[in-house]
Amino acid sequence: MECKACSSTNVQRLSLYWQSLPAESPLRVKYAPPSQPEAKGWMALLAIGAGIAFMVSGAVLLGLLVAAGGLGWAALLHAGVQRYESSLASWNEARICLACPGLF
Ligand SMILES: [Zn+2]
Repeated sequence: MECKACSSTNVQRLSLYWQSLPAESPLRVKYAPPSQPEAKGWMALLAIGAGIAFMVSGAVLLGLLVAAGGLGWAALLHAGVQRYESSLASWNEARICLACPGLF
């Protein structure tokens, strides 16, 4: 496998390169893997549960609003996790050229 920019064969997996960097290297921040989104799924579930509780207790409209908000929130969280997983997958697949140094 060779670099698309300079045709050097001195390429390495980005994940391995990153792991081999010393802790104080500024490149550790530059080439760091994507950060995991905070898991707040239980809070969205709590909102849905609260919405259902409102509906049961007679505040149907408020309950619907709260439950819908919780559902929308859960969908947003889910999309965030999927984005994280796909960017982590491409980070794992990425290679770095040690000659130019380009990412590809
Ligand atoms: Zn290169």
